Amino acid sequence: MYAYDELRKIHLELTDKCNAACPQCSRSDFGGVVNPALPLVELSLADVRKILPEDLLRRIDHIVVCGNHGDAIMAQETLEIFRYLRQANDKTLLGLHTNGSARSAGWWADLGKVLGRGGYVRFGIDGLEDTNYLYRRRTSWSLIMRNARAFIEAGGRAEWAYLVFKHNEHQVAQAGRLAAEMGFYSFTPKKTGRFFDGNLRPITRSPVKDSKGEVEYHIESPLSSEWINEAWLEAESIDRKHGGMPNYLDMTEISCKAAAAGSIYVSAEGHVLPCCWLGSDLYREKFKQSRLGVLIGEAGGMDAINAKLHSIQEIVEGPLFQRRVPESWGKKSAAEGRIPTCARVCGKEFSQYEHQFGRQHSFGGGMRALKAMAGFCRRNRLLAETTINAVDRGVSRLLRVGAKYF
Ligand code: SF4
Ligand code: SF4
Repeated sequence: MYAYDELRKIHLELTDKCNAACPQCSRSDFGGVVNPALPLVELSLADVRKILPEDLLRRIDHIVVCGNHGDAIMAQETLEIFRYLRQANDKTLLGLHTNGSARSAGWWADLGKVLGRGGYVRFGIDGLEDTNYLYRRRTSWSLIMRNARAFIEAGGRAEWAYLVFKHNEHQVAQAGRLAAEMGFYSFTPKKTGRFFDGNLRPITRSPVKDSKGEVEYHIESPLSSEWINEAWLEAESIDRKHGGMPNYLDMTEISCKAAAAGSIYVSAEGHVLPCCWLGSDLYREKFKQSRLGVLIGEAGGMDAINAKLHSIQEIVEGPLFQRRVPESWGKKSAAEGRIPTCARVCGKEFSQYEHQFGRQHSFGGGMRALKAMAGFCRRNRLLAETTINAVDRGVSRLLRVGAKYF
């Protein structure tokens, strides 16, 4: 797949615990019952020191603390872990993806100082006060806003990622303006790639369940074509061209994103896989009988890929990374041994993930921020026409407009 020396990026899932209950997250059944196969564990500072020793960290460009099943703000030693990662290498780009709705303002200020400008926190905030909770269930708007402010005021680089649904598409521009006002570094509307059924057919609505498994309401895909993920169109074209998604998944050429980036994923239990997409398969029903489960079994079992027991070097140089997974890409079909997730995620003609990101609006800092903000506002018709003209006419007027928002 790649040589150990080529490793440049690490995706770290510090915990599979979460304070939220997002209905399209793989940790639960549509936001209701939590997947009983999840171990509900976390990595400690001691674990991270062992798994990621300083000599490895010195050559890593990017560490992103995100995850499939949990949010790192629920892990006990997240701040200390970031301190360790920063002290080991002051040039690594360090990122945290989070719902932002836990921990004290002081914790967030400390994180801002630890990460500095060479790090970022990506807050997943999908709407405004009256809509964010419909997807980010069980989160608190006031806590998120307080925490983001504390992080930004301490010098942290905050990014706002906004999943667009029918219930919040009318608020994209308003949220972008709030992001600029608050001093976020960037604002990115995202076209969610999750409106597909189990057979990868596009759907327009998805249930939201309570803790007893009852449907409480539905969330719906956006109406505006601007926010529809292009994978919908790709799925239609695949039907016409290949006679259905199963045929396509059997034959598509696979181009491994993890190999291209030189990246690995480490789960909250310490298991190492090439990517989070394979990591998300770990706790599915009948995992052991799945193609990936069988390949892991053939390569020595789960312990053989656990970085608490073996070094990352041993694992990356081991049979799963170097033979079993890459060899599976050349198999003629899932029945013959292709990993279905690899075909779905890294096939040539369909991607739910690559089309997610709408245009990022970067606000940055200083004069650049003011110009970018004015551009954002203009594109989204947030300023009165006269003000837009004033912005176009000169920097002095721009500063006055900017002062209103910063
Ligand atoms: S905040 Fe993240 S980990 Fe938690 S439920 Fe939502 S998507 Fe899943
Ligand atoms: S899903 Fe498979 S092909 Fe895609 S990045 Fe992961 S290991 Fe590579």
